[in-house]
Amino acid sequence: MIFGSRSAAICTQRHLMRQLHTSFYCFVLCWFFLGLGKAHAAQVDVSHWVDAGQVSQTALSLSPYIAILEDPGLKLTLADVQRQDVATRFKSDFASVAALNFGYSKSAYWLRVAVRNTANTPVERLLEINSPPLGLVDLHQPLPDGTYGTFATGMTRPFATRPYANRNFVFPVSLRAGAEHIIYMRIQSTNPTIIPLKLWTPAAFHRYERDDYAVQAWYFGMAATMILFNLLLFVGLRDLTYLLYINFVTCFALSMAAQNGLGKEYLWPDSSQWSNIAATALYSLAALALGMFMRRMINTRRVIPKIDLFLQLFMLVVLLSPIGFYLNYPVFIRFAALMFAAFALTILATSILCAFKRQRSALFFVAAYAVLLLCVVITALRNSGLLPVNLLTQNALQLGSAIEMLVLAFALADRFDVMRQERVKAQQEKLEAQNSLVDSLRASERLLENRVAQRTTELQHLNYQLEALSATDSLTGLANRRHIDAVISSEWTRASRSGQTLALAMLDVDWFKRYNDHYGHLAGDECLRQVAADLKTTICRTTDTVGRYGGEEFILVLPNTDGAGALLMADRVCSRMQALALPHAVSEFGCVTVSVGVAAMIPNDETGPDTLIKQADEALYQAKERGRNQAVLAPQ
Ligand code: GH3
Ligand code: MG
Ligand code: MG
Repeated sequence: MIFGSRSAAICTQRHLMRQLHTSFYCFVLCWFFLGLGKAHAAQVDVSHWVDAGQVSQTALSLSPYIAILEDPGLKLTLADVQRQDVATRFKSDFASVAALNFGYSKSAYWLRVAVRNTANTPVERLLEINSPPLGLVDLHQPLPDGTYGTFATGMTRPFATRPYANRNFVFPVSLRAGAEHIIYMRIQSTNPTIIPLKLWTPAAFHRYERDDYAVQAWYFGMAATMILFNLLLFVGLRDLTYLLYINFVTCFALSMAAQNGLGKEYLWPDSSQWSNIAATALYSLAALALGMFMRRMINTRRVIPKIDLFLQLFMLVVLLSPIGFYLNYPVFIRFAALMFAAFALTILATSILCAFKRQRSALFFVAAYAVLLLCVVITALRNSGLLPVNLLTQNALQLGSAIEMLVLAFALADRFDVMRQERVKAQQEKLEAQNSLVDSLRASERLLENRVAQRTTELQHLNYQLEALSATDSLTGLANRRHIDAVISSEWTRASRSGQTLALAMLDVDWFKRYNDHYGHLAGDECLRQVAADLKTTICRTTDTVGRYGGEEFILVLPNTDGAGALLMADRVCSRMQALALPHAVSEFGCVTVSVGVAAMIPNDETGPDTLIKQADEALYQAKERGRNQAVLAPQ
């Protein structure tokens, strides 16, 4: 229930310009994660009352009931603002906004809210300012004795100064039965001065607080999971991309913690300077980490080398920006807002360009980044009152970044899959190349084997020929002396094993010297050839061998033949030679004849082949002695 009236809105030109100025920077910064609403003109009315009983299950926004006094000189005290002349300078009429927004301001702001407890029992309420980055927040509330009690807290003061431990500023307010209370707040901050002021019943606030912390726990739990999981992937795969992703998620989660007050509550409760610049400095690092991750993931160095160079320079500027925050935060933050916006647009443009260049990873990146930017817009619209304030719009930024983290993680998985496929393909190609190499090696091996086999066959053939040649008499084509000796030796051994008789017939052409002398040496050679040819046809057993023993002497080796059989054979040779009737004018027989000495024996241990040869030779001598053209058997 509201008491009193509102005055008409009056906006001076100076005031309007200042609002436009701050609005611009607020929007720019908001565009890159900080999410602000638009500033509103405030008008004077000192007599707005809120009834504490209006607060029930949901929070009551105090914006319509607030009166505000800007203190550019930072000199006013509680006593000053309570004085009549100063009290009338308070302005009000903020009915349509959820949060008062003064953007970046060096002034301190005094807030005055008049609360009446119309009930006849005292009530406890909680007054919440859902704006963690505010540097100094002082709350003064009237005590029963008429004096004022003060809670002096804020982001730049230790967390322990908060009367109620919460990531936002929460103050317990005690309202006496049927009494009116004028509560004052003094807020001064180098961060955007946004003041969403709400009054809660303790029970409703506790419910809201549980939900709020559950959402935060969900978000940071997910970020921690992503970090740990990708850390394991990095350890396993040794791909720097995963480390850059971890870096990005860590910086982003930390900047979220700095922005929403959880960093102050759990990580740096006692720091003052750092608490003030933490969110902005961490946003710089997060933006930098995002840039580094993007460069690596979509391979800008290869796809768009010139733009990549520009991106690196830009990242260097972003990297150095926290130094500026440290040196002069209020001045530098105004440029930083522009820088963040430009960097955000550069990253968007770069990733879209790479996506157009058919860079697969860039598509994922654009999708993830678009979700984040959409959530930034939702946050901005909520802050400006165009979207309702609810759990979704209040946590849109965190939801957006969570989705972004997930999509980017999926992109990494996809990238891994693509790389795996490429590796498999490369391995297959290598395998195929190896197989074809092995095939060609085998083919050439086969070719070599065939050639070797061919050469071996040829060589064997040549060997046979050589062997045959070395065993053959060149004039007659019969076995030569060397071969005959070998045959005699082996037949001797065989006969000695089997106990069979081995026979030899030694032949000598009669009066051959005369033949040569008469007909000439060449005719003598021809004669020897004819004798040899005849001898060849004489032997009919395959086991028999005929050879030229030397000069005009020939020999027959007759295995398994006794003396009688051999003599018979020798007689036939003599007869056939005579029947051949090769003319020999200077022989008493008128034709070429031969004398034959035959010997046969069963080999024994005391004798050797030489004995047999000798016996045959002696028998031949006998044949010559007895008149030639006859065969003689050596005595057995
Ligand atoms: P005999 O009846 O006592 O055996 O009388 P012969 O003349 O045959 O005996 P001799 O051993 O005195 O002569 C062998 C001759 O055979 C001597 C040599 O001129 C001749 N002769 C040996 N080898 C060859 C040859 O390869 N070609 C030719 N044309 N004559 C040869
Ligand atoms: Mg002779
Ligand atoms: Mg002779």
